[in-house]
Amino acid sequence: MVKSNNKIGLEIEYDDNLLNELFEIALVHYPNEIGGYLLGKYSENKKTAIIVKQITALEYLNSPVSFKHIVNEETKNVFVKLFEGEGIHYLGEWHTHPNSNSRYSQTDFKALKKIAKGDIENPILLIVGFDKKGIKDYSFNVFFNKEVYKYE
Ligand SMILES: [Zn+2]
Repeated sequence: MVKSNNKIGLEIEYDDNLLNELFEIALVHYPNEIGGYLLGKYSENKKTAIIVKQITALEYLNSPVSFKHIVNEETKNVFVKLFEGEGIHYLGEWHTHPNSNSRYSQTDFKALKKIAKGDIENPILLIVGFDKKGIKDYSFNVFFNKEVYKYE
C-alpha cells in the first residue's frame, strides 16, 4: 500500500501485513497501549519512505491511555545491527490507542516535534485505533514544517 498527502511530497509505502502484525501485538498488551519503531529506507529520489519492518519497544512505560518508549542500550544495538545488516534505519514510530480512534493526542504531537529536532526531519507516527474485535482505524502522521499532517 502507498499513502500520500497532498500537502507533503512524501509518500509512505508499507505492507498490509504490518497492520495485522500490529493488531496481534496490540491484543497481547490490551487494555494498555503498546508501541515501537518503524524501520526502513527512503527511495533514491527521497519521495517515498518505505517501511520494511517494525520493532516493538524493548523497554517502555504504558497504561490504557499512554505509551512511552525508552531507548536503552539493547535497543541501540538492535538499530545498529539492522543498519549494518539490512541497510534500514529509523523512520518513525507506532503505538496503539485501545478502545479509541487513531487521532493523535497533544502528547503525540509534542513527541513527534521532539523527534523532528533530531536526525529525522519528517518522522512518521503510525497510530492504530482498535478494540478486541479488530482495528477500527489507523493513521500515518508526519511532522512537516512545524505541523503534523495526517495521511488518509
Ligand atoms: Zn497516542
